[in-house]
Amino acid sequence: MSNNALLTRSLQSVWHPCTQMKQHETQPLIPIARGDGVWLYDAEGNRYLDAVSSWWVNLFGHNNPRIKDAIKQQLDTLEHVMLAGFTHAPVVELSEKLSKLTGLGHAFYASDGASATEIALKMSFHYWRNLHSGTPGKQQKTKFISLQNSYHGETLGALSVTDVAIFKDTYAPLLMQSAQMPSPDFRLAEAGESAEAFALRCAEALERYVSKHHDELAAFIIEPRVQCAAGMGVYHAAYLRRAREICTKYEVHLIADEIAVGFGRTGTMFACESADLPFEGVDKATNPLREYGSTKVSDIADFICLSKGITGGYLPLSTVLTTDKVYQAFYDDSTVRGFLHSHSYTGNPLACGAALATLAIFETDNVVQNNRQISTYIRTKMQGLANLPIQHLRHEGMIFAFDVKTNNTKFARDCYSAALKQGLLLRPIGNTVYWMPPYTITEPEIDFMVAATLMAVKSTV
Ligand SMILES: *Cc1c(COP(=O)(O)O)cnc(C)c1O
Repeated sequence: MSNNALLTRSLQSVWHPCTQMKQHETQPLIPIARGDGVWLYDAEGNRYLDAVSSWWVNLFGHNNPRIKDAIKQQLDTLEHVMLAGFTHAPVVELSEKLSKLTGLGHAFYASDGASATEIALKMSFHYWRNLHSGTPGKQQKTKFISLQNSYHGETLGALSVTDVAIFKDTYAPLLMQSAQMPSPDFRLAEAGESAEAFALRCAEALERYVSKHHDELAAFIIEPRVQCAAGMGVYHAAYLRRAREICTKYEVHLIADEIAVGFGRTGTMFACESADLPFEGVDKATNPLREYGSTKVSDIADFICLSKGITGGYLPLSTVLTTDKVYQAFYDDSTVRGFLHSHSYTGNPLACGAALATLAIFETDNVVQNNRQISTYIRTKMQGLANLPIQHLRHEGMIFAFDVKTNNTKFARDCYSAALKQGLLLRPIGNTVYWMPPYTITEPEIDFMVAATLMAVKSTV
């Protein structure tokens, strides 16, 4: 079928996400027929380099033979069974592996990131109820706090702790109240203030708030190290360490939302692991490579939310892992003290199979280590953009970004269109242009990505 016929039918029958559909009167949809490696191909053979990993989910390229084979094998044995009252090998193996990697356990599954956020919020709230049942004074721990400019998903609970006006304001009457703490995003620092000093100053503000309100606070939910949806807002690891100390001191849960940053994105397997590492550096192409952290997720977080890259970008799957302490508070003769939450596809075997194949690639291919070389290559090449009217050229592991100084109020859309013409899928967030490519990207592909970005930005500022 021709591209055009499919586009018309799509506009008639499909309501596309995060889109004012009327804008498709002038901005055509891109019909994708197949994917291979970092490339997406349309029906007419044009190809686009997927520099955003299809909304941050793809880790090892499209049409990855290992993940594909794992799903095919699983398909021949068991496609799905409900997880209430039943279990299966893929979900058990995956839970064991994730537990080993994070130091947390008792994996609870859902399908999307937002559902993982909902689960963590409900579990935290319910934990405090269970813990203090019969002592009404402590049942007041019903509130959540998050960071300014945070993003935790768009279902009503998740949106309540999200702080992005364009997604949130319309639905404000439906949302529960939550307070936002100052974001440690280094771009918000005072002139001359170091990222670390700024992070610590934000942590002080956090402590002032928590010390006053801890009686009513269930949890602080946070995106460790990079607030991706805020436009790749990178912040200093000192904030995570202080946030943990504050949450411990005042008995508030810390929920690490690693839906975007988990699975190697920020340079360690999980972003929480970098909490003891020095700031990787901004505007420094020749920063020495940092060492692995000795921190485990469980040193920082009471809950971790995972999704996106967990299946390598193949199938929807999300999970929340937590501590034995939280789990024990639900373990009881009373049914209603249990966590009575479910989704139809909880623990889907095909998705778990894809996740196991993804983790196997991490193990056999030394991915986190190898990514450092790719990251170094990209950030060296990235200096080629330094002469554009930009600021805050930054990187954290396999995330690269800069902010464009322009008066073009439609910059994001114009740049997106200009990049597509070059054969590059870029999706700027406001004036932030970023790359979050699949880890399998090659040097020639990086060269292409950088050159096409340069042209796209040049033509739209
Ligand atoms: C994408 C994202 C979510 C929501 O995940 P969905 O699968 O889109 O519901 C939540 N938190 C963070 C940090 C994300 O990047």
